[in-house]
Amino acid sequence: QVIYLNGEFVSKEDAKVSVYDHGFLYGDGIFEGIRIYEGNIFKCDEHLQRLYDSAKSIMLDIPLSYEEMEQALVETVKRNQLKNGYIRLIVSRGAGNLGLDPRRCPVANVIIIVEQLAIYKEEDYLNGLKIVSVSTRRNVPDALNPKIKSLNYLNNILVKIQANLAGVGEALMLNSQGYVAEGSGDNIFIVKNGVLTTPPSYVGALEGITRAVIMELCEQLGYKVKEEPFALHDVYVADEVFLTGTAAEVIAVREVDARIIGEGAAGPITTHLLQEFRKIVHVDGVK
Ligand code: PLP
Repeated sequence: QVIYLNGEFVSKEDAKVSVYDHGFLYGDGIFEGIRIYEGNIFKCDEHLQRLYDSAKSIMLDIPLSYEEMEQALVETVKRNQLKNGYIRLIVSRGAGNLGLDPRRCPVANVIIIVEQLAIYKEEDYLNGLKIVSVSTRRNVPDALNPKIKSLNYLNNILVKIQANLAGVGEALMLNSQGYVAEGSGDNIFIVKNGVLTTPPSYVGALEGITRAVIMELCEQLGYKVKEEPFALHDVYVADEVFLTGTAAEVIAVREVDARIIGEGAAGPITTHLLQEFRKIVHVDGVK
């Protein structure tokens, strides 16, 4: 395994950044998680667009042009000789002093890690996940816009801890008004009477790239899909619930807070969307 670190390719052991890096000290930075399917970088453009938008919003200067970054991703994938896997792209503010001031961090750190992905088992996709809702609230949109995929993941980590304590793998986070926002690292969709609904980003959800792919697929396949806020009640009484994310793809939920969803397994629309999603991932991407 080789890791891209500021233009160099180094071993895992040598991939080190300063303890003064503001990504480490303050979570000051941004990241992307991207999939490689059959050697293709899936939705590379969309991920880079989100990365550069996040950077602009937090006034972080990425020391690589968009094209250079794409090239760095392609090269890192090539050097790791991985046909199917996961890319973690991180841009932190860089090393500064102990103060908050980002002007003390002259250059950002750019890191690309390529790894194999050990995610859900096939039976999880068929049976669905058991999840819970937790008391951790999603950042209110006006504090840190949920569209920014920043390194501030403490909320999400608290969600994960609460999921662990409940003995499940994933959990739902609400916003301060009680609307369902998202999972610790996934977006949510509910299906009721054949209509799909996913929370709009202003509720406190990342504009997931998998979410966008699913919304596009819905349109192509003739399913009605809405972006509207909803509450836990709507999740409990949904016919189907599923989560979407780069790592999880499209995964059914069979139980939420001990309420069985639909038939208690992946429903027909979730199954159809997962099948269609898997058809496109291998053909759509940057080589
Ligand atoms: N929500 C959060 C908080 C995430 O970290 C992620 C993962 O990137 C997602 C949703 C899903 O987004 P995507 O489909 O772009 O991976």
